[in-house]
Amino acid sequence: AYKHATREPNMTTHKLLLLPGDGIGVEISREVERVIETLHGLGGANSFEVEIDLVGGAAIDAHGVAVTEEAIAKASDADAIIFGAVGGPKWDNVPYEIRPEAGLLRLRKDFDLFANLRPAICYPALAEASSLKRELVEGLDILILRELTGGTYFGEPKEIVTQENGEKRAVDTTVYTTSEIERIVKVGCDLARKRSGKLHMAAKWNVMKSGVLWRDVTVATHEKYAPDVELELILADNCAMQLIRNPKQFDVIVTDNLFGDVLSDEAAMMTGSLGMLPSASLGAPDPKTGKSKALYEPVHGSAPDISGQGLANPIAMIASFAMALRYSCDMSSEADIIETAIAKVLDNGLRTADIMQSGLTKVGTEQMGKAIAAEIQSAMA
Ligand code: NAD
Repeated sequence: AYKHATREPNMTTHKLLLLPGDGIGVEISREVERVIETLHGLGGANSFEVEIDLVGGAAIDAHGVAVTEEAIAKASDADAIIFGAVGGPKWDNVPYEIRPEAGLLRLRKDFDLFANLRPAICYPALAEASSLKRELVEGLDILILRELTGGTYFGEPKEIVTQENGEKRAVDTTVYTTSEIERIVKVGCDLARKRSGKLHMAAKWNVMKSGVLWRDVTVATHEKYAPDVELELILADNCAMQLIRNPKQFDVIVTDNLFGDVLSDEAAMMTGSLGMLPSASLGAPDPKTGKSKALYEPVHGSAPDISGQGLANPIAMIASFAMALRYSCDMSSEADIIETAIAKVLDNGLRTADIMQSGLTKVGTEQMGKAIAAEIQSAMA
């Protein structure tokens, strides 16, 4: 753990818990630390207190569990949790209950992280890397908001039963309540307000009862809570089609857990590589402080095939940290500066192996992190 000493009276100190995890999680976390150091070194009204702890396989090796109670306590004390990635072949055979992912699931559950924000941003310099035509994706900036704690993945009954005739029957159950839908739609309205003011809600009210409730609660919540936001209802299958046909028609799309899983991956892949994709998961606001617990993490995993070689792209995790500044630290302008720094470094032709194109400059994890930090420094000087 370390704290940046500060003597200025009006300075706001943000408590961050950094959980690097396993594999490339450790390497890309160092670059996030570099960005934090850079922001801090530039002074200003904000400082950071950073705690670092183990999670995933690293925590299993040290403590026998994927996340310790001490780490959970630190997480509960932090303004934001910045998470790397967990897992790897070394832990493939540990018992199911203590597997590396259990650390992440415990954090999601303890802090009721129900709102998953998955931005899909296409940096102009990477438009060629998309499988869609440049004009469709260049400058794309959409946000898929996925409900993360309810629906088909958690509903009961959830079982495979062998029937009397020997045939098996599998059941998953999609369950949502009014309040579960209302709280995520409110988050969607808030996000739309901060962006272009446009919100789509994707569901299947034509064939699913849960879809009917999603539609009705969304309309009622919008009317009561955010009539200023432009709301459009869209069938989830049409949404999947429209995302490919004309993705720039969207800004924020709110949807349930199952459709969100699929639509967010679809939207994300328009932008090129896994190494570029940040995410945030927000919990319910604390009734006393109004602040939400939140966890920020790259979408990718621990990439055992390239870990320990200094090859990983740190951009997804640095962009996740930028989201933490925007949503947990009230530091939107610094978040903008980080995102602009990423775009500049890409414009300048620097590429990690995963986004390499011929004629450009191949760099490793550390060089990429240093270049982004340097751009941040010159933007703020
Ligand atoms: P992965 O995301 O780790 O890797 C998939 C491919 O993308 C690999 O070829 C990898 O080299 C590449 N890649 C991913 N991130 C990259 C980056 N930042 N820079 C450059 N290349 C990158 O998925 P996987 O291989 O299916 O899983 C590996 C391990 O990670 C498994 O143990 C899995 O359980 C775990 N995992 C963890 C999380 C998480 O921590 N949230 C998410 C997904 C997978």
